[in-house]
Amino acid sequence: MASAGRRSQELWNRAQQVIPGGVNSPVRAMASVGLTPPFIKAGRGCRIEDVDGNRYIDYVGSWGPLILGHAHPEVVAAVVKAAERGTSFGAPTEAEVRLGEKLCEIVPSLEQVRLVNSGTEATMSALRLARGFTGRDLIVKFAGGYHGHADGLLASAGSGLATLGIPSCPGVPAAVAGLTLILPYNDLEAVEEAFSRHPQEIAAVIVEPVAGNMGVVEPLEGYLAGLRALCDSFGALLIFDEVITGFRVALGGAQARYGVMPDLTCLGKIIGGGLPVGAYGGRREIMRKIAPVGPVYQAGTLSGNPLATAAGLKVLELLQIPKVYETLEETSARLYNGLAKLFAARGLPHYGQRVGAMFTFFCTEGPVTDWESAATSDTKLFARFYQAILKRGIYLAPSQFEATMISLAHDAEAVEQTLAAAEEALKEI
Ligand SMILES: *Cc1c(COP(=O)(O)O)cnc(C)c1O
Repeated sequence: MASAGRRSQELWNRAQQVIPGGVNSPVRAMASVGLTPPFIKAGRGCRIEDVDGNRYIDYVGSWGPLILGHAHPEVVAAVVKAAERGTSFGAPTEAEVRLGEKLCEIVPSLEQVRLVNSGTEATMSALRLARGFTGRDLIVKFAGGYHGHADGLLASAGSGLATLGIPSCPGVPAAVAGLTLILPYNDLEAVEEAFSRHPQEIAAVIVEPVAGNMGVVEPLEGYLAGLRALCDSFGALLIFDEVITGFRVALGGAQARYGVMPDLTCLGKIIGGGLPVGAYGGRREIMRKIAPVGPVYQAGTLSGNPLATAAGLKVLELLQIPKVYETLEETSARLYNGLAKLFAARGLPHYGQRVGAMFTFFCTEGPVTDWESAATSDTKLFARFYQAILKRGIYLAPSQFEATMISLAHDAEAVEQTLAAAEEALKEI
């Protein structure tokens, strides 16, 4: 293991004793890149500081939520103000109505939306609803797609498991796993074939409309529209898991960017502005099946929590300011193009893909269109690059199969500093 700071190492040793693997979510461990993770003390804008006083420019952004950067003053103020009025009531509040209205205004396909506490809850609940609505049991998901850690969604589930080399998860009953059909991403023929084998049994196709959990992989031309058409012909629901892409690849998410409307949409990450929130929503006719109006049960003691709702509302309000997405696009493009040039100049295998404010450079020569091609990446080379750039104050997600997250807090200075660090890092490896 490369050395972490003294205080981080000490906390890491203690963490191992009381927390499995020392982390509360597996992707935070840095074993795959040969490191002990630095423990983070504070963040402001695009920068974070660890407990040993090391400073980094952060491109993880809490794995997506922090599109405004850390501790945005207006978001913090909104959360504090909400906390002073009470942290939870378990009763309806005005802020929930306003957040619901805002989500339906921004995300094109939403007519109704239910708030939950995480992306996992959103996808799990959307699948139950899809099954309840269609009266069918099978689900189609794509290899390399991650939709949270609910039982039926863990097979071939992208970065977290792939980084640890876990192909499928013990504890998921075969009977449950058997209800999920796993197909290659970006391959419409495979979907068509699955539908012709099970014409009356598939409740839903769930997809990350831009894959973010096998690294960033853009849908091929016509792919999303093709899924829409197949779902329509076979009476299945199309579910977009926009937990990462929502408010990131465009204000209205991938559905706005590509102009394809799903039946149900799952949201998370950015809508909580760094507090725990998820949501699922879609056509009124489908959403009416949820309790208390309909028979599909789904609930949550802290759902629509006042702090999380206040943060989410403020974030969305700030994202609706004109030109915000132009700025994000410019910053992302400048950094992405700069890095592409550096990789090319150094003659290292790389294949980059960027959609809006997220991108990945795969350490591979060929085009990456699905999990199989993503998995050809040289993860040892990635680990060397990771170590070399972390040392120079650039904090990336510690896996080849993750997205680099750009925020509005990444300014020109941060981009320049990152490119300079990358140039040095690439020289070293
Ligand atoms: C992160 C993520 C989830 C799960 O969200 P959690 O809040 O971690 O439960 C679901 N789907 C996608 C696409 C994600 O990236």
